[in-house]
Amino acid sequence: MSEKYIYDLSEGDASMKPLLGGKGAGVAEMMRLGVPVPDGFTVTTQACIETMNNNGEWPDGLRDQIADALARFEQRAGRVLGATEKPLLVSVRSGAVVSMPGMMDTILNLGISDESVGAIAAESGNERFAWDCYRRFIQMYGEVVEGLSSHVYEDALTAMKQAKGVEADTDLTAEDLKELTAEFKRISNEELGGNWTNDPREQLFRAVEAVFRSWQNPRAQVYRKANHIPDDLGTAVNVMQMVFGNRGDTSATGVCFTRNPSTGEKALYGEFLTNAQGEDVVAGIRTPRPLSELKDVLPEAYDQLIATMGTMENHYRDMQDMEFTIENGKLYMLQTRNGKRTAAAALKVAADLVDEGLIDKEEAVRRIEPEQLDQLLHPAIDPNHTASPVVTGLPASPGAGVGAAVFDADTAAEKGAAGEPVILIRFETTPDDIHGVLQAQGVLTAHGGMTSHAAVVARGFGKPCVAGATTIKIDPDAKTVTVGDTVISEGDMITINGSTGEVFNEELTLIPPRLNEDFLKVVGWADEIRDLGVEANADNGPDAAKARELGAEGIGLCRTEHMFFGEHRLPAMHEMILATNDEERQSALDKILPMQQDDFEAIFTAMKGLPVTVRLLDPPLHEFMPDLVSQALKVQELELTGADEATLESERTLLAQVRKLHEQNPMLGTRGCRLGMLYPQIPDMQARAITRAALAVLDREGETVQLQIMIPLVHLEQELKTQREIVVKAVDDELAKAGKQLDYKVGTMIELPRAALCADQIAEHADFFSFGTNDLTQTTLGISRDDAENGFLGWYESSGVVQRDPFATIDVDGVGQLVKMGVEKGRSVNPQLNTGICGEHGGDPDSIAFFQTVGLDYVSCSPYRVPIARFAAAKAKL
Ligand code: PEP
Ligand code: MG
Repeated sequence: MSEKYIYDLSEGDASMKPLLGGKGAGVAEMMRLGVPVPDGFTVTTQACIETMNNNGEWPDGLRDQIADALARFEQRAGRVLGATEKPLLVSVRSGAVVSMPGMMDTILNLGISDESVGAIAAESGNERFAWDCYRRFIQMYGEVVEGLSSHVYEDALTAMKQAKGVEADTDLTAEDLKELTAEFKRISNEELGGNWTNDPREQLFRAVEAVFRSWQNPRAQVYRKANHIPDDLGTAVNVMQMVFGNRGDTSATGVCFTRNPSTGEKALYGEFLTNAQGEDVVAGIRTPRPLSELKDVLPEAYDQLIATMGTMENHYRDMQDMEFTIENGKLYMLQTRNGKRTAAAALKVAADLVDEGLIDKEEAVRRIEPEQLDQLLHPAIDPNHTASPVVTGLPASPGAGVGAAVFDADTAAEKGAAGEPVILIRFETTPDDIHGVLQAQGVLTAHGGMTSHAAVVARGFGKPCVAGATTIKIDPDAKTVTVGDTVISEGDMITINGSTGEVFNEELTLIPPRLNEDFLKVVGWADEIRDLGVEANADNGPDAAKARELGAEGIGLCRTEHMFFGEHRLPAMHEMILATNDEERQSALDKILPMQQDDFEAIFTAMKGLPVTVRLLDPPLHEFMPDLVSQALKVQELELTGADEATLESERTLLAQVRKLHEQNPMLGTRGCRLGMLYPQIPDMQARAITRAALAVLDREGETVQLQIMIPLVHLEQELKTQREIVVKAVDDELAKAGKQLDYKVGTMIELPRAALCADQIAEHADFFSFGTNDLTQTTLGISRDDAENGFLGWYESSGVVQRDPFATIDVDGVGQLVKMGVEKGRSVNPQLNTGICGEHGGDPDSIAFFQTVGLDYVSCSPYRVPIARFAAAKAKL
């Protein structure tokens, strides 16, 4: 017995999603609940996976199982695929486990053939309709299944219209369409070297095969990568009886959401087209009408739809995104799934569902995608602007975007990836544009509604989108868009407001976003759930203030090296580096100390008594010096031009020092605590500046600072021992001089493999550990963190050698193991040891889930990732 690869719709239910895919399980569940759906069967994801693993060969038994399922289906329907009388027509649709809107292929009207077309005409009483379906089917099948170019069909259609002297497709008569169908078949067969099949059963097998294949198409791959969807899940294939939304004015097709997916409001949201087929709505070819108008057009079906929306939302206890078709006044539901939504909507829906008693707080938090919250931090247009929009389209995905106009996805992808802000302008977007959408600041389309692919995809990625700006005229060849008298050319700056639909032909100022009540409510629940603390990496007062506003519970990393740059400080730094004896060095440091003190005061003031971890100087000294080649050239030029002896002398001294400090691998050189070992005056000065700042803030604001001083890049016990002694001596000396007391802690970063391996020795001298996973990844993997993006690692990622960028998501098996060992060894000698992480991974949800498992006390990330980390930490606990 071979495995069961097919389930009739009546055999499935929602729990079978991994096997039947989202669409198959969703429709089966609706059928189970008595909601009207077309009948059919689902080919499992397992069949797709086995086919992929077997180089496209179907598993044994699949073909027979499809034939049997079709026979049962025909029996139930009282119709036969391709029959001369009562023919059965089916749709063949993909259905992945994780929804990937529009990324894979669909074939409609399969079963229409020379034999069955007459019966279809007779049943519908509309011959033109029958031939229109047929010619559309040939084109769709030719393109999707046989891979033929759309041009071959479009050229034939244009030729036909010219020959008949008509402008629009709708002007072609039944007879014309019949001729066109024959022509389409002739061309298809010619293009395929005689391999075109007219047999509907064979077409069905090939269509299933094509849907399997579409799992691997480039746009699906890009979508999966962007959404971290595993490549090996495969898609199910749903074969369902066709229902027709294009049977005249009492037929319609549409898409609806049970709540507004942009704002989360519980309000009617959806669109429909009368006399149209499903793909017309989502593909954005015609601009659809708002769902509320359906009440006037088809009141009974409308009432039934509204009732079904309520039933399904209550059943899934979540906002549903549904597709429906009305055939001659009768409603059929074609799909239901949890609707994609903006972060703002996700928060509102979660908060409202808790209020409505449908879900509890844990479930509300579980449903938030932490990464998506990034959108809330998207800017809006400064409301004080005086510009007038050149056009207003549909507000399809909220937020504002500013960028140069571009007219094709490749250019958008290229420029966007190079860091140039662009707005992608398209007549309509197709899933093939996804790589451009990903890299653009926003999307503007002339056609399509709120549920078009452009809108769905943009919302998913948190990109602003204005859709259906029907009055704009795009000339893709000239790369211009004309709006009334205004012509916008490629490269011109424009601003779009996806929350209002407005488009401006100038660069407007954007203002930072604000977190609303829904956010505060739901994040409050997340905070109640999580164990992990969330702190921020911030190096100055404004960043620290931002971090606090976003909920940081402290500063987990204040990098002090940034404070040494700047024109006022560099000369003193040069003086310090060039000093030939301790006195000269101390005099230079004495100049730097008050500047450092100012920096720390600003941070301590902003943090209002929360913990602040200040890390002592880290980068290589040469970063403060001129580059070796430039300095050598400068000296040479001064020698040639006969500069005065004093200038020459000082520049030569500088050159000699630059040469001395030059390192082939500065990242593995004299940085971190190694600097403090060579020049103990530096940690001494920094410890004094920190203490004085803390005392000044205590005096001025009455606020105690929970001070933590952190020693970077330690790999030997002796390093930490020495550095700790220097720091403790300096802090205690300052406190004694001031006659004050202050609790403080001294700890270290664990960012070299040896430090993790010998964490028990190091912990003897540490009050806390902070894992520097940036350097720990660099040194464990032996991959330069500065070159990673552009080097081989990018290739490793795109070709699947590695699944994730290890500098973004922790390499659990390697680096993660070192973190785990570091925590265990550290706590074995110091059970009170406080442990955290301050590398970039501190803001990455998947990494946070891992840090929860090794029992870290906190994560620290950049201020804007703090809200994401708060949710990720809560989800890690649930
Ligand atoms: C680290 O290495 O992870 C770290 C936080 O320090 P930096 O990025 O400053 O080297
Ligand atoms: Mg580091």
